[in-house]
Amino acid sequence: MTRTAIITGAGSGIGAATAKRFAEDGWNVVLNGRTRDKLDAVAGELPEMGVRVVDGDVSKPDDAERLVTEAVESFGGLTCLVNNAGIARGGAPGDLSLEDFNAQMNINAGGVFNCVTAALPELKKADGACIVNTSSVSGLGGDWTMFGYNASKGAVSNMTRAMALDLAPDIRVNAVAPSLTDTEMTAGMQDDTDLMTRFAERIPMGRGAQPAEVASVIAFLASHDARFVNGVVLPVDGGLSASNGQPNFAA
Ligand code: NAD
Repeated sequence: MTRTAIITGAGSGIGAATAKRFAEDGWNVVLNGRTRDKLDAVAGELPEMGVRVVDGDVSKPDDAERLVTEAVESFGGLTCLVNNAGIARGGAPGDLSLEDFNAQMNINAGGVFNCVTAALPELKKADGACIVNTSSVSGLGGDWTMFGYNASKGAVSNMTRAMALDLAPDIRVNAVAPSLTDTEMTAGMQDDTDLMTRFAERIPMGRGAQPAEVASVIAFLASHDARFVNGVVLPVDGGLSASNGQPNFAA
């Protein structure tokens, strides 16, 4: 049986790696993002059959509706929705603008709402339907200077759990919670050698993730192998969130 997945934020990073991994696993993939050129470049590296690009902004309900409509027109149904599109805007309380706060809420959490609302009627018709959200370790606890991002990703984590209750047994809903991953989002951080050293000290595996290492966990959560996994926000963080936050006594 051919399965079809929508992957939002597929023009780069974790979303592009997820599109590649799903295509390798035999899925039809529908790539969404705001920038057509980037999506076309990712699609160009995938097998032509079974790939569709639908550009659009997940924070806009009409774009989310069109995304689902075009996916179903292309492939006849929808099995999986990967809500991966996201942005991050730094700023401690008092420094973060309302505009940046709202942008994060509207894209990171509102995008999940819009795409799920649009996709639900189709997912309900599919065998083995599922939703996989890209949350973050920032959706499990707080970061210094990231409280707006923490709010939006905390919403994604708890929407995942609540939707898993409401949509069972027909649709499983899970999330990944990556820590530092080598993508455009963290490009500025990757250039900061001192910050990377401090990350390596906090991550037991001693490094950040590559996008493919997050994509493979998203693919697992979408797979038949995970058919009894529901409502999980799974850290993909090299052990970072295993710590209670106290310093390393042995260092
Ligand atoms: P990225 O910037 O490469 O990818 C994010 C993608 O989302 C981009 O292609 C961007 O164009 C797209 N996007 C942004 N706003 C959109 C909108 N309104 N509509 C449609 N697409 C939109 O960064 P990434 O690290 O691959 O991010 C993917 C997801 O992973 C995000 O949700 C991010 O919050 C999350 N995440 C990233 C990290 C990290 O360290 N990189 C860690 C934890 C979670």
